[in-house]
Amino acid sequence: MTLTPVLSRYWDEAESWSIETYRRHGGYEALHKALYRDPDEIIETVKESGLRGRGGAGFSVGTKWSFIPQNDGAPHYLVVNADESEPGTCKDMPLLLATPHALVEGAIIAAYAIRANHAFVYVRGEVASVIRRLRTAVQEAYDAGLLGRDIQGTGFDLELVVHAGAGAYICGEETALLDSLEGRRGQPRLRPPFPAVAGLYARPTVVNNVESIASVPSIVQRGAQWFRSMGTEKSPGFTLYSLSGHVQRPGQYEAPLGVTLRELLDYAGGVRAGHTLKFWTPGGSSTPILTAEHLDVPLDYEGVGAAGSMLGTKALQIFDDTTCVVRSVLRWTEFYAHESCGKCTPCREGTYWLAGLLRRLEAGDADERDIDTVLDVTDSVVGKSFCALGDGAGSPILSSLQYFRDEYLAHIELGRCPFDPALATVWG
Ligand code: NAD
Ligand code: SF4
Repeated sequence: MTLTPVLSRYWDEAESWSIETYRRHGGYEALHKALYRDPDEIIETVKESGLRGRGGAGFSVGTKWSFIPQNDGAPHYLVVNADESEPGTCKDMPLLLATPHALVEGAIIAAYAIRANHAFVYVRGEVASVIRRLRTAVQEAYDAGLLGRDIQGTGFDLELVVHAGAGAYICGEETALLDSLEGRRGQPRLRPPFPAVAGLYARPTVVNNVESIASVPSIVQRGAQWFRSMGTEKSPGFTLYSLSGHVQRPGQYEAPLGVTLRELLDYAGGVRAGHTLKFWTPGGSSTPILTAEHLDVPLDYEGVGAAGSMLGTKALQIFDDTTCVVRSVLRWTEFYAHESCGKCTPCREGTYWLAGLLRRLEAGDADERDIDTVLDVTDSVVGKSFCALGDGAGSPILSSLQYFRDEYLAHIELGRCPFDPALATVWG
């Protein structure tokens, strides 16, 4: 399989982020085409393309748009989720830095399709440079008459607001994001009703990820069949994979869905010289880890699912044979304990106790019964928490115990971490 640079095709060009560069590469031609079509036709094209949400869950984008009631006279909203925070995930921020106009054009087309006159981009608060770049692009679009009143003389009005979050991981959960956008403390709402029925200000709202929306102009421009010519039948199209960790050339690789990690590692120069792959995450730390046995698993929703994990955000974090899996899982669990919003008891208490238990296990200050306690507590969190954060917290724990239980036992037997660099011994 070869790389398919669409979104990333001129990221290396000087000032790739400016409206001039974007237009030189055909930018805003799709918008022009879209504004002269019926909104329902655009929804149909996106549905036919099979584009699935790139935020992690893979829900059909066109289907989500079609849930928005038509001609009801009530306000509808588009909200772009740019609160990219999943550990290892670094695709939306590079995209916004390199080609913010792809997002702006996609947002205008999406808003037109769902008949929304207000759109919001909720950006992770810590990334000040991204927020500045996006705001500049939005201003360029206003100045060019691509946003505001009577866009391109079509009678369509759209106001687009870039809103900076305050750096809470939970505000990437769509309903917590909506609460935060409304000015409240960001905590998940009960679903249903889904945002498509009652979202921002209790109105029908589409919440889509940055990459999903930025993929729309190319689909409108080149057609659903072109998009379907890449990827697999159930997971069509191209996507951005982010490779990080013990890999020679980390970064973003745009390839069809269904590519394998072995193929992506070929492009990325392989695992760090002199070392072998030990484990990896297909979609950030909320997805169960996989091992070197899974190098040929197709990286699409079905393939990764069949291997017992999830594609998630396509954040491929690579860990070589020098990594202590228990320490990695501890670090992730501490992250979840810190980011738990505290709304529900299983996650608030469970992640706190799991971090404590893992700290003892990693230090070699535990016994085998503590592994059973970890499994017990994880069982009280996974599937019993209010939102996906609780399930995500359990994923690395359960999968690491599935593949690397011996390494947990080695910590107990040795009474210390076998990987402690100060002791210069590597277990196994
Ligand atoms: P989900 O499957 O519950 O929902 C996915 C989307 O489909 C949502 O927008 C939801 O509103 C919509 N939807 C689902 N069923 C619907 C229905 N019946 N009617 C109308 N709309 C419906 O997933 P989720 O809980 O929103 O997200 C979980 C995912 O988030 C995980 O897979 C994880 O990979 C990802 N994640 C991403 C990041 C990041 O930084 N990008 C961070 C954490 C988690
Ligand atoms: Fe909050 Fe965690 Fe419960 Fe989600 S699972 S609502 S993050 S406490």
